[in-house]
Amino acid sequence: MNELKFSKLGLTGQLLRALTDAGYETPTPIQAEAIPLLLKGSDLLGIAQTGTGKTAAFTLPLLHKLSQRGRRTGPRCARALILAPTRELVIQISKSIKTYGRHLKLEQAVIMGGVSQRPQINALKRGTDILVATPGRLLDLIKRGHADLSQTDYLILDEADRMFDMGFIRDVRRIVADLPAERQTLLFSATMPKEVAKLAGEVLNNPERIEIAAKSVAVDRIDQTVHYIAAANKQARLAELLAAPEMERVIVFTRTKYGADKVVKKLSRDGVSAEAIHGNKTQGARQRTLENFRSGRIRVLVATDIASRGIDIDEVTHVINYELPNEPESYVHRIGRTARAGASGTAISFCDPAEQPYLRAIERLLKRSLTIAAGEPIALTPLLKKQKKGDSNRSKPRSPKRRRRPRRPLQRAA
Ligand code: AMP
Repeated sequence: MNELKFSKLGLTGQLLRALTDAGYETPTPIQAEAIPLLLKGSDLLGIAQTGTGKTAAFTLPLLHKLSQRGRRTGPRCARALILAPTRELVIQISKSIKTYGRHLKLEQAVIMGGVSQRPQINALKRGTDILVATPGRLLDLIKRGHADLSQTDYLILDEADRMFDMGFIRDVRRIVADLPAERQTLLFSATMPKEVAKLAGEVLNNPERIEIAAKSVAVDRIDQTVHYIAAANKQARLAELLAAPEMERVIVFTRTKYGADKVVKKLSRDGVSAEAIHGNKTQGARQRTLENFRSGRIRVLVATDIASRGIDIDEVTHVINYELPNEPESYVHRIGRTARAGASGTAISFCDPAEQPYLRAIERLLKRSLTIAAGEPIALTPLLKKQKKGDSNRSKPRSPKRRRRPRRPLQRAA
């Protein structure tokens, strides 16, 4: 356990308050290492995946510095630019900025493809503090005179390897060429292929390097099985499983907050004591729920991925993935809740046909197939249609049909 406190890292009081509001107690390793270096002004090469807390590692020092130094720049300008490969990631980063910057008076604008340009152009008109953007749309707006990076002193390139995979590296180079040479630059990447290393060499100036190994949870000690099951039948199967006496302390994971509430409601109707923990709950409510779970007052905790980070409860006997996560790394985080402190554990995953791409992505990450515990004879297409009618849109994976091979499925939804 990391004993370092956020308050020791040199961040301003407003940020510390926001972290307390968010329920963060201790910095993750990348945060503990990166924040002091970034506050000092170093460039940084961060080799870290999603799930390590890298977003806060770069957002917190950025917000700190922007809040300490004067006001905004000129029209169409931004003081800081964060480039990310996908809309999902841009939205996620923007949300983090909002969360961590809630007690500061900083502005942000979001620029991404696939949505109307007009509001984005308007948002940039007066200039902004932080611009979060995908490369293609930003380059377009720069060319047409709607965005100006000549006063941008901070540049953060997130998930550079994915930018490369998606063919954005040339756009990134063109964008970087528009920034002043005198700036602080950070580049994050989960992997370091040659092209990305080359880009890092070009854009970073004498960088510090931080490498965070992928979470090594003792997945071997966890008994992992899959139940192929249609979404409509999941609730009944969950109730059946929970009836077994060995299910003493169970965490059920859903992808969305809405899904978590729905599961709790139905379990309560079936007489199972359960409570949900997710981002819409107040900090107080989350703490109470965790306490109830810890003390055994409730047997089942229903959680979304984000809310579950930092849950540190021993003796969780079972983790049930009611819905598979759309980021394979989250699967490892989730099941890791059941094998803490040297204990072994059991993880059961429900997989609807629409979630099969997520299962494949998980198996690729684990480098093995999961054992099939139970299966329904299910046909892909008809069930997908049925699910659209009967089940909530929001608990459905995003367009899995279009993505034939989701190497690293995108955004977490909760
Ligand atoms: P990231 O790797 O930036 O995608 O962050 C992974 C998740 O961990 C995000 O959902 C954050 O809200 C959460 N998180 C980041 N830092 C902390 C922390 N120090 N304590 C608890 N949760 C955190």
